[in-house]
Amino acid sequence: MPSTPRADLVVAIDGPSGSGKSSVSRAVARALGVGFLDTGAMYRAVAWWCLERSIDLGDRAAVAEAARTMPLALTTDPDAPSVVVGATDVSAAIRGSRISERVSQVATNLGVREILVGRQRELIAETVARTGGCVAEGRDITTVVAPDAAVRVLLTASVEVRLARRATELHGEADRAAVEATRDQVERRDRDDGTVSDFLTAADGVVTVDTSDLDFDGSVAAVLHVVDVVAGVAR
Ligand code: C5P
Repeated sequence: MPSTPRADLVVAIDGPSGSGKSSVSRAVARALGVGFLDTGAMYRAVAWWCLERSIDLGDRAAVAEAARTMPLALTTDPDAPSVVVGATDVSAAIRGSRISERVSQVATNLGVREILVGRQRELIAETVARTGGCVAEGRDITTVVAPDAAVRVLLTASVEVRLARRATELHGEADRAAVEATRDQVERRDRDDGTVSDFLTAADGVVTVDTSDLDFDGSVAAVLHVVDVVAGVAR
């Protein structure tokens, strides 16, 4: 039974690749009975749209213009989050390696960031108005998108654990070959993304939750505990 959220409960969660951010944030939103915003999906959708329309990802002005004008719609229901561009549901397509390998080029385009940060703030406000709260996750939510959020969390895990999690997700196992095949999507991507946002150290007032030794349920419980302590949400 979801608890009753505070009227304006925004929970901002940042973290590197493989920290469990998306799945944990979604479960936290469900437990709190509020909406869920996956901001990474928006950067991924811009990359998808540009590739579809043969827009060169190196052409910063063209990519920023695409981000501004593309028909992007997100649903923020944690039970059925979806990403739709025009008439196409791209929820699955944007998770593939074709996009994962290129998305940092979109995310390091500061023109794109300005547009998406504005959209994200609007979506959080709309979601709060509709559901009483919003759990928003990404790389710069605690610092740029929602620095005034009631609860701000940095979700981390050791690089070995993050590599193993991604390898299992992508290849079904975490043997040496699978881990090596995943390295680009974790280490290289975080290095590139880290040039525009700091998601490896907690800013002032941000609570770090290290999930290296926690399983999924333990990670969700740890974040809900922070929400309880910081925002006083009765559960
Ligand atoms: O979280 P996810 O792996 O889906 O994010 C995809 C990409 O979107 C990241 O690698 C990063 O380049 C970008 N991103 C970002 N800022 C956010 C969320 C995601 O730059 N707030």
